[in-house]
Amino acid sequence: MEERLFLRAVKGGKNTKIITLNGKKMTKIPSTIGNLPGLKVLNLQKNLVSKVCSELSTLTQLTVLNLGNNLLEEVPEEVKYLTSLKNLHLFGNRINRFASGACDGLKNLILLNLNNNQLTYIPEEVSRLESLIYLSINHNQLTSIPRELCFLKNLSELQLNYNQIICIPEEIKFLKRLQKLLLARNNIEVLPGVLCRLTNLRILDIAGNVIQIFPTGFQHLKLKEFYCEGNPLFLKQPVGAVKQLDVLSLQEITSRFIMNELTERNPFLMEAIEWYPEIWDIISKGRKCAICGKSFFGMWIECVEFVSPSKNWKISKNLKLVPLRTLICSYQCFNLRGPNQFGVAQVQ
Ligand SMILES: [Zn+2]
Repeated sequence: MEERLFLRAVKGGKNTKIITLNGKKMTKIPSTIGNLPGLKVLNLQKNLVSKVCSELSTLTQLTVLNLGNNLLEEVPEEVKYLTSLKNLHLFGNRINRFASGACDGLKNLILLNLNNNQLTYIPEEVSRLESLIYLSINHNQLTSIPRELCFLKNLSELQLNYNQIICIPEEIKFLKRLQKLLLARNNIEVLPGVLCRLTNLRILDIAGNVIQIFPTGFQHLKLKEFYCEGNPLFLKQPVGAVKQLDVLSLQEITSRFIMNELTERNPFLMEAIEWYPEIWDIISKGRKCAICGKSFFGMWIECVEFVSPSKNWKISKNLKLVPLRTLICSYQCFNLRGPNQFGVAQVQ
């Protein structure tokens, strides 16, 4: 049956550029496809294909391959020979893995759509898709954003809605061209501070996660659309705070002293620190107090500061104030905080 349908579709003979056979209940791709070396577009959506034929690999002129809504269980190895391919649609299959080497030859791939599959991980090889601009893996079972994705330097749109992602890797900062990041309906608890370095980000959707607070600097992102409904965000409700004495550990006192002296470029310490790279390593992890600006190391008071979202953001209706995470060095500074800052908990 497939061959017959296929022959009918091949009207232009050997010069056929486009074949569309959507919803034809085809169970396989006919091997005669190998006789169409000039084929540019192959649409085989909504069929019953569970495996591609080896002749597919001869279609080196193919720029669009749509195998959406079929029965594939893997990203087939044959696609690695499709060196001209720009758009690859594999949504709505049963894909749970990439065949080994599948990403190898896809140097020109711009769009990859893997929505509605059963992927639990993305292999390292995905970093070979160096031209990729649009990547969509909504409705799968990913539990993390693979670090390798963060090395796709041309990526502008990343869609990972409806997965089970728990955290966002620090490497996300390498996605300098990212404009659209969709992470709705996952299990994300914390947004990393490096997210604020994505200066091209314009659309961010983190609706339906378990985020309580945003990193410092978040309010400066130049977003146009921001969606965050369905998160247990801190609300501006006054809670009484008990004033406590600051009792710092000796390590904390020493770290603070060294860090603050280095900020003031104390010449003796500047010279001495050269000899102790391990100490340099420790104090480079220091943070700055949101009130006095001085450094501290491992003890702080966590606060939430409520700021109005930027007027340019198109946002979730219920978001009146954005809760930002701020850290304060001592109760002395805590007592000097502004009216929009509230204590959360002391971390030691
Ligand atoms: Zn302070």
